[in-house]
Amino acid sequence: MASSGRLSGKVAIVTASTEGIGFAIARQLGQEGAHVVVSSRSEAKVDKAVNSLKQEGILVNGLVCHVGKEDHRLKLIEEAAKIKGSIDILVSNAAVNPVFGPMLNTDDKAWSKIMDLNVKASFFLCKETVPYMEKAGGGSVMFVTSIAGYQPFSLLGAYSVSKTALIGLVKALTPELASRNIRVNGIAPGIIKTNFSQALTSDPEAEAKVLESVPMQRVGKPEDIAGTAAFLASDDSKYLTGETICITGGMASRL
Ligand code: NAP
Repeated sequence: MASSGRLSGKVAIVTASTEGIGFAIARQLGQEGAHVVVSSRSEAKVDKAVNSLKQEGILVNGLVCHVGKEDHRLKLIEEAAKIKGSIDILVSNAAVNPVFGPMLNTDDKAWSKIMDLNVKASFFLCKETVPYMEKAGGGSVMFVTSIAGYQPFSLLGAYSVSKTALIGLVKALTPELASRNIRVNGIAPGIIKTNFSQALTSDPEAEAKVLESVPMQRVGKPEDIAGTAAFLASDDSKYLTGETICITGGMASRL
């Protein structure tokens, strides 16, 4: 399965890819032929994800990478570059949200953590990967942002702002990357059932409230995001750059 497909011969890094949306993206890129490098902070989760993908016949390497640590990011890129000397696809998917509540309660420490992990680490990962994409003759970068970047969630103010910043990062990087034959796009999921969104989906009452804003009347699954990532990674989107695609079941999405 993994040797043929529209991503055959490509090497892909997906961060925070041992569960949830990142895992689903890594799995689909692998199913479409890419050699994927999965990672997250926990070695046990990395081992589990690698074993599960290998069982499907997917070409996969895995290692521990906390995206906020420069040495971890560089090791991740080095591991991916070992596969064929260059990197074709980067999906920057990791994010944190350490606070939940009124925005005016957000303290300095929480702001720093959110912006460092969600925005700065995404930028540096991209910057550090670009030389290896140039070696490949080009590539595709994706930042996983959120519908909250367009329509801030009331109890996730700082997190929402970090996701708006990622939409800006896509736009700001587009010309410089285009001159290197690298496309850069954002993926903005709506409410997707994962550990991350548990507070919004764990009980029927919370979920019913969420669904008031979802025309398709269901929360998404991680696999609902993966097909768009594979499309953005592939030549099927070869003239598409500088955009953020919302995958939300129809939630309102304007800045
Ligand atoms: P999830 O299911 O909770 O998975 C999170 C993954 O991130 C795990 O593999 C975790 O593994 C890893 N991780 C956490 N902190 C990390 C770090 N500092 N460095 C590297 N890996 C880290 O989350 P998800 O819902 O799939 O979220 C993925 C992305 O989608 C995030 O950017 C999130 O903002 C975005 N998003 C999610 C939703 C939603 O409704 N779920 C909606 C919009 C956007 P370890 O614990 O081993 O590190």
